[in-house]
Amino acid sequence: MDQLVSVNKFERYFNKDGNCWLWKGTIHAGYGRYCVKTDKGHRYVSAHRYSYELYIGKIPEKLVINHLCNNTSCVNPEHLEAVTQKQNIAYAVLCGRTAKGAKSGAHTKPWTRCRGENHYYNLNPEKILREESHGMAKLAWPDIRNIREEYNSLAKTATEIAKEYGVSLSNISSILRNNTWYDENYRINVLVSKYNSVCSNSKMSFEEWKEKCRIE
Ligand SMILES: [Zn+2]
Repeated sequence: MDQLVSVNKFERYFNKDGNCWLWKGTIHAGYGRYCVKTDKGHRYVSAHRYSYELYIGKIPEKLVINHLCNNTSCVNPEHLEAVTQKQNIAYAVLCGRTAKGAKSGAHTKPWTRCRGENHYYNLNPEKILREESHGMAKLAWPDIRNIREEYNSLAKTATEIAKEYGVSLSNISSILRNNTWYDENYRINVLVSKYNSVCSNSKMSFEEWKEKCRIE
């Protein structure tokens, strides 16, 4: 199909009046779906992926499309970046796009959340981690710095690190997310490197990016 015809047809499904071009067609799991004609009939494709290929170009093999604006139904090509799956997840975590707060299962499915006397730790009081038996007690600050360095330089996976230090994967992941052993410098370093890896081609500055992702 002729490029102009494709653009005109595609652009019927959103308005360009905002910063984000929000998809008005079918939405599936937060992402726009677009129906295209192929030799074999009609087929649904991701609207944002289609947008990327229409306005920017072919998506490089093995790359996924990340929403810099965190609006999954947005199809503005300026807000789309082709990144690796790993970068995409890191970006989502950094921007708090993974289910947290009001969107987490605990809120959307409150019945799955144990409260009061049904709480796991009330039913299993011996399972409450005491300081000395807690995985974190095995580690000290130099280990923490090593762990973060090894992971972020892609030298090792979180699973490998967990094995090496003899602690659980969830301990490692909370260290990597800066939830435990909180370090402000680490947070800034991670933000800068993620910004560089995901937004290097965008016109957004670090400050604008932080604002857009609602990072304090
Ligand atoms: Zn957007």
